[in-house]
Amino acid sequence: MMSQYRQITGIRVRGAASAPYAAHLLTQAWGESPDAVTVDLNVDPALPEGGYRIEVPERGDIRLTGDPFAGLVYAARELTTLATPAGLPVGVRTDSPGLPLRTLWTWDHSTNWDLRQLGQQEIGALNPYAKGADAFGADYRRLVDFCSRERIGGIVVYGLLRDAHGGVEAARELCEYANARGVRIIAGIGVNAYGGIYFDGRHRYNLATWLRQRPDLAAELPRKVGFDIDDFGDLHFPASEYMMAACPSQPDNLAWHRDAVDWLLDTLPVGGINFETGDYGSCACQRCAARTGGERTSWSYEAMRSVYPTLLETARRTGPGGVPLRHLVEVYWDNIFDLEAQKPLAELPDDVAYQYCVNRGFWYDNRHRLTAAHVERLPHTTNVLRTHAGSQWNRQRHSWVPDMYADMGSRAGDAGLRGLTIFAEASAYHPTNEISYLAYARFTWNPDLAWADFWRDEVVPRFGGAAEAEAFRDAAAVLDDGAATADALAAVRGDALAMVAATGGEVQRRWLWLAERAARHAHCAG
Ligand SMILES: [Zn+2]
Repeated sequence: MMSQYRQITGIRVRGAASAPYAAHLLTQAWGESPDAVTVDLNVDPALPEGGYRIEVPERGDIRLTGDPFAGLVYAARELTTLATPAGLPVGVRTDSPGLPLRTLWTWDHSTNWDLRQLGQQEIGALNPYAKGADAFGADYRRLVDFCSRERIGGIVVYGLLRDAHGGVEAARELCEYANARGVRIIAGIGVNAYGGIYFDGRHRYNLATWLRQRPDLAAELPRKVGFDIDDFGDLHFPASEYMMAACPSQPDNLAWHRDAVDWLLDTLPVGGINFETGDYGSCACQRCAARTGGERTSWSYEAMRSVYPTLLETARRTGPGGVPLRHLVEVYWDNIFDLEAQKPLAELPDDVAYQYCVNRGFWYDNRHRLTAAHVERLPHTTNVLRTHAGSQWNRQRHSWVPDMYADMGSRAGDAGLRGLTIFAEASAYHPTNEISYLAYARFTWNPDLAWADFWRDEVVPRFGGAAEAEAFRDAAAVLDDGAATADALAAVRGDALAMVAATGGEVQRRWLWLAERAARHAHCAG
């Protein structure tokens, strides 16, 4: 049957108040005129977040329906991309995400999406902010735009509240910008660790400020503070105020955190909270030692058991768009198969997502064990995979890892996990990161997507052809090979420069990146 098309010369939007940004996308594409075709925007709270329906009839109103937070933004953007010179294809389309919880994870100090900034950092977990105050918004607005376009539902921001980049006002502006575009800003907060709720500044909900007033409530940390990841190596945090930690056995600390979470949610239109209790050393005071019998890890399951019921009760609220806040509770890493250790988590509330992190080596050694039967046995209903792989924490900040993210997305979907979280501090300007993020976005949206389809639709056009895409992939592997010789890297540079000469636009930019990167590596390998 021949596809039918409908010519659109202008539109008028009805229902714009429920989705102003979606309305903006539509009028930007077609222009507004009073007697043109009506595009009707409808909210349907029964749809899953990000779900939508597009109805283009032969005549009469065009109808877009979406969930209250993101669906209409996705629907409007898809409608604009469906347009051809012949018009809009007539028919009904529906879509919704396979994994509902798709989240990018960041620290503010090493999130570099506006690459013109001075003060860029590429690693660290408790760093000072080295850029100018305006850089925070400039970086994160670009990341929000990417997420909105690629249908990624949330961004965790550690260091969301920091005096050096505008404190509460800058955080509020970011949240509002993101909410309009269907992206949740998820406040990364530390409980008894990682700066508390206001990460850095003279603020009553900054943890160091609190512990200077009440030194009796501080944790007794081990002599060496830090952690060890096989795929990274030993990491020692420099002694600083940022890493001050509070004792989880002190009721005054829990009351302070409860009040701080209350304040946060009264003050900022965040889309949720990523909670964690600290992974750089457990309190060794007598009270904690008596309760835990000593923890085997640099984090404490007993601390999680004792603080989360109160904090999650406080945080159970409605957020932007009138939809419930989305909270992630970090369970730390390489322990998703250790059901014995997780026993203290069983009594925690079941209406939040529990987030299990994996490192690269652990993933490849154990991924066959990630089955629906195992996920059923986890203490809670909603479980999310997170990974350090593809980030600096596995020495892969700029590595080419689309196949790994596709594998994680597909396996997570098959096993009944509800989401996948990856790092995305590095801009998609870097083509290796760009392709990795696109694989993440597509395979978490549709865990059944075929690799060949992804490759044909998303990768091949970005490098100027099928053979070229494979050549870029192979060259990226040379960059990632620490033993690559200067000669091998110089050959990559030469081939990339030939592609620069033969291409233009964004394809050329990607090859130019490769040429510069190979030249940089060759220079240092020589
Ligand atoms: Zn203690």
